[in-house]
Amino acid sequence: RTQFIANISHELKTPIFAIKGFVETLIDGALSDDEVNMEFLKKISHQSNRLENLFSDLITISKIQSKELSLSLENFELNDIMLWLKDTFEDEANQKGLELIIPNTKKLQVYGDKVWLQSVFSNLVKNAINYTAEGKITIIIKKFNKQVKIRIIDNGIGISNEYHNRIFERFFRVDQARSREVGGTGLGLSIVKHILDIHGSPIRLKSRLGQGSEFSFNLVIN
Ligand code: ADP
Repeated sequence: RTQFIANISHELKTPIFAIKGFVETLIDGALSDDEVNMEFLKKISHQSNRLENLFSDLITISKIQSKELSLSLENFELNDIMLWLKDTFEDEANQKGLELIIPNTKKLQVYGDKVWLQSVFSNLVKNAINYTAEGKITIIIKKFNKQVKIRIIDNGIGISNEYHNRIFERFFRVDQARSREVGGTGLGLSIVKHILDIHGSPIRLKSRLGQGSEFSFNLVIN
C-alpha cells in the first residue's frame, strides 16, 4: 500500500510540475509570444489529459478494491459491446491509419458484468491502438461448448518475453516515455487482470517483440 501511494505521488509529480511551469512561463510573458504560446497550451492540455486518465484509473481501482464491490452478473448481448467499441475507437484508429476489425456477434449472449467487461475491452483495444504504428487491430470471437473465446490482436510493437508477467503489475511500463506520450497511466492492464480475475477468467498473452500482441480470455455462456 505504501509503495502504491509512493508510485501515485511520483506519477502526479511530472504532470503537475509541467503544467505549473508552462503556466508560469505564459504569465511571465510567453502568452504574447505567438511563436510559443500555442505550443505551451497544447503541452498543458496533454499533461491535463494525463492527470485526468490517472484520476479515472485510480477511481476504477478503488472501486474494484472496495469491499462492497458486487458484480452485476447478467446475460447480455456481446454485440452491444462490439458496437460500442466501434463507435468509441474506430475514428481514432482510422486517424492513425489503422484498420479496426470488429466482428458482428449478433445473438451471442455471454454471462458477466457488462459494465466492467466493457472496461476490459476498452483498455485492451486502446492499448492495441496506442502500441501499433501501422496495420490492424482485430477482435476474433469464437464460441465453443458453453464458452466464448475472445482474442484482441494487433501487429504493433509487441512485448518481449521477459515482460509478459510484469506488464500486468500496477504502473509497470515497458517504455515509460512511449506510454506517457500516448497518455498512458501504467494501470490499464492491472485493471483488466483484476476484473477478469473476479470473473474467474485468466488473461492470456502471446506476443513477440516487433511482431505484435494477442491478449485473450474466455467468457461463459449461461
Ligand atoms: P499504459 O497506460 O502504459 O498503456 P497498461 O497497464 O495498459 O499501461 O500497459 C502496461 C504496459 O504494457 C504498456 O506501457 C506497454 O509497455 C505494454 N503494452 C500493453 N499493451 C500493449 C500492446 N498491445 N502492445 C505492446 N505493448 C503493450
